[in-house]
Amino acid sequence: MSNSPRPIRRIVIAGGGTAGWMVAAGLSKCLGKQFDFRLVESEEIGTVGVGEATIPTLHFMHEILDLDEKEFIQATQATFKLGISFENWRNVGEHYFHSFGKTGKSHWTAGFHHFWLEARKRGLASSYDDYCLELRAAMESRFALLPDNGINYAYHFDATLYGQYLRRIAEGLGVQRIEGKIAQVHTDADTGFITGLQLANGPVIAGDFFIDCTGMRSLLLGETLGVPYESWAQWLPCDSALAVQTTRVGQPVPYTRSIAHPWGWQWRIPLQHRVGNGVVFSSQHIGDDEAKATLLANVEGEVLREPRVIRFTPGQREQVWKKNVVAIGLSSGFLEPLESTSIHLIQKGMSRLVELFPTDGIRQSDVDEYNLQTRDAIEVIRDFIILHYHVTNRDDSAFWRQCRQMDVPPLLKHRIQHFRDTARVMLRPGELFAENSWVQVLLGQGILPSSHHPITRNMDDRTLSGFLGDIRKDVARTLMKLPTHQQFIDRFCPAP
Ligand code: FAD
Repeated sequence: MSNSPRPIRRIVIAGGGTAGWMVAAGLSKCLGKQFDFRLVESEEIGTVGVGEATIPTLHFMHEILDLDEKEFIQATQATFKLGISFENWRNVGEHYFHSFGKTGKSHWTAGFHHFWLEARKRGLASSYDDYCLELRAAMESRFALLPDNGINYAYHFDATLYGQYLRRIAEGLGVQRIEGKIAQVHTDADTGFITGLQLANGPVIAGDFFIDCTGMRSLLLGETLGVPYESWAQWLPCDSALAVQTTRVGQPVPYTRSIAHPWGWQWRIPLQHRVGNGVVFSSQHIGDDEAKATLLANVEGEVLREPRVIRFTPGQREQVWKKNVVAIGLSSGFLEPLESTSIHLIQKGMSRLVELFPTDGIRQSDVDEYNLQTRDAIEVIRDFIILHYHVTNRDDSAFWRQCRQMDVPPLLKHRIQHFRDTARVMLRPGELFAENSWVQVLLGQGILPSSHHPITRNMDDRTLSGFLGDIRKDVARTLMKLPTHQQFIDRFCPAP
């Protein structure tokens, strides 16, 4: 494609799910009044209605928007999230935690886990979990905001309420919402650029630049501009989900539960007013009816709405920016919700677009850069998710045997072997999941490295034991001071 020197003034966002409203709020806040923002959505089509667990990077989005945390929590019935409990993933009946935050203290040469492995070898260490505040707090269902970002957390929230909340913010920033079903997409005969969205009820919404947030249908980028979808189903075996909401039972825990089944897994996301539940499964290994029966047999509380099936192909559009269209959200691709990364990717897509925004006209080099950055960012996340499936002791079903035996992407294969041999986790530039995440999941899924960094041998038993003991005591001391998660919610952001 050649460069297009036409300046951009009219920005049209197609779709008003979480992606559409996050993008509308973020772009209008960052790019300001020199643009005219319009968002088209159809109540009749609705939104996917799931997507309620987040990761700590969401704070950046809320900082951009200058949101008041208490107001956000009240508006979305949010709870706090300190990580994910992975149950039955390594072996049936066992669990481990992927928590936010850091475990222990690292030296620049080697992460904390190297020291823990050395101490473990000498019989001086307790469980790896004891050295991480977020993990211990999650297990004991405690939470508080601590000074100096002393606790790393994210949220669970009601996706519908979050959309409504962002809509109020975006409209306050001048975004115009247009209700209507897009019946046709007009393109320029010479350039192939999109010129307008024809609504079924009459008007054409003309624009210079379009953000495709139309969900899995990908009406602009996929259907109209014909950008192919690259499937990653060979590594991510699940292609279906069933979601159901239930009434609240007991106090919400500050973590997501991910419970593996012989053909996929189940999530449980506690909000203040209800619980979000669902199963993610491989349709080749279980039928919808059986998956639904298992889901309903494993939820607590009263079912609020009939479960509904959602089909997906894990993967990504080959490009996410083509001509004058950028796809953000499910229209750009979908990994699967195991590590709650989709909302993060929406936010990243929005902030990346702000950085590269083609105000004075589209240059192909900006388009290429955007596509390159997106691909680099998502492939390492994809690999991290594959890791959970691939490294397991489970062989009790065809699904798990397939996961164990599959050939994983070369970089992931190398990273697993490198950890197995040396305990090293070498991060890629800009990688989302830090060393702490990789180590918790690699150990949690059952890999115990055969060696670790020799620098740890410089510590004699007393020093090493003291080093670990001090961290453990620090964690335990802070933990004692934390109220329960529910007490904190009641104090910090009581229901209005
Ligand atoms: P949608 O919600 O589908 O919105 C599409 C919008 O486009 C709607 O407003 C619709 O009306 C509009 N639209 C479509 N066609 C037309 C048309 N012709 N005319 C007018 N308007 C149209 N993410 C996380 O971060 N954490 C999670 O825990 C998580 N869990 C998930 C669980 C499952 C089972 C699935 C499938 C996804 C999950 N996700 C999760 C992903 C998350 O749900 C999505 O990233 C998020 O909701 C954004 O969706 P969206 O806005 O792209 O699409």
